[in-house]
Amino acid sequence: MKFATKAIHAGVEPDPSTGAIMTPIYQTSTYVQESPGKHKGYEYARSSNPTRTALQKALAALENGSHGICYASGLSATDAVLKLFKPGDEIIAPSDIYGGTYRLMKRIFEPLGIVFKFVDIEEVGQIDRLLSKNTKLVWLETPTNPLLKIIDIEQITRICKERNVLTCVDNTFASPYLQNPLDLGADIVMHSVTKYLGGHSDTVMGALVTSNDELASQLKFIQNASGAVPGPQDCFLVLRGIKTLHIRMQRHCENAGQVAVWLAAHPKVGKVYYPGLPDHPGHALAGRQMRGFGGVVSFELKDDSYEKAVRTMERMEIFALGESLGGVESLCTHPASMSHGGMPREERLKIGLKDTLIRLSVGIEDVEDLIADLDQAIGTD
Ligand SMILES: *Cc1c(COP(=O)(O)O)cnc(C)c1O
Repeated sequence: MKFATKAIHAGVEPDPSTGAIMTPIYQTSTYVQESPGKHKGYEYARSSNPTRTALQKALAALENGSHGICYASGLSATDAVLKLFKPGDEIIAPSDIYGGTYRLMKRIFEPLGIVFKFVDIEEVGQIDRLLSKNTKLVWLETPTNPLLKIIDIEQITRICKERNVLTCVDNTFASPYLQNPLDLGADIVMHSVTKYLGGHSDTVMGALVTSNDELASQLKFIQNASGAVPGPQDCFLVLRGIKTLHIRMQRHCENAGQVAVWLAAHPKVGKVYYPGLPDHPGHALAGRQMRGFGGVVSFELKDDSYEKAVRTMERMEIFALGESLGGVESLCTHPASMSHGGMPREERLKIGLKDTLIRLSVGIEDVEDLIADLDQAIGTD
């Protein structure tokens, strides 16, 4: 089955008791058993829920995997992956991963004895030099936030496989419409479903997909033991959201591409970061590894002042100022004061985050309106 058909049909079938075409919201905590242990496959809703099951099947299909597991948030999905490991096990991750992932690794799992090696993203290409006999997992995220750097998933997973090291890819920025890490050799793919998969800024959720039966059963055990499950209402909203994932992503990519080209030609705009631009260092790799360049565009103003960036963002009207990305509506964020505000300025500059860097999540509105909004916000002084 091709992508659009899967997005609409995978995992869902008419409700067996009524024929309802949409999967019902099974708002229940438990299931009545005929006699002890004799039930219809559902015992207690932490372990499983039919609305969640439908969504998990759909997500597994979209990522070309055999098992999908949904979580209460993206970070609780990551938390489950990290719980696969024991004190002394080593995990390698690039230092510019999503801030919340870094915080979870550094502040929760490092004190419990897991050893983390955070490496410069440029070094990840030489992964064989970084692996030790204790390395158990390489964590990847591509494209990265907010500079949209691209990592070669296939090259890294090939080396990790030879050395018996697991790989997990945070695929949030690309969505399964643009990139399928399992097809490129990854063992686990992780999503913040909150973003493009949900797509409507109305749900917080996470997911893992794998084709490894053993890993899936360990992860399901961890989920049932730890309890980080999403509610059925949220599963319903995401089931509804992914039915339009392919169309939304097409428009996100089209709009972001046009916005990036317009920004790059603007006299007051400095560097523009978008993998679809031919001068982006990851352009060729993104062209091979992804089926489009995504909806996130970052740019700097030539006038490199913090205040100038803040004023520009305050003037934006259609681009709403707010954390997150991947919804139908356009958003803008200021990494220096928002997502990376806790990082000392020198550290921030070292990883390339200037004071005037603005990150756009380009929505699916009419692109002329989006460009007009940027024009009035950037152009006035
Ligand atoms: C938002 C995000 C997360 C965390 O997901 P939550 O759903 O907010 O817990 C992880 N990775 C990336 C790339 C994200 O954008």
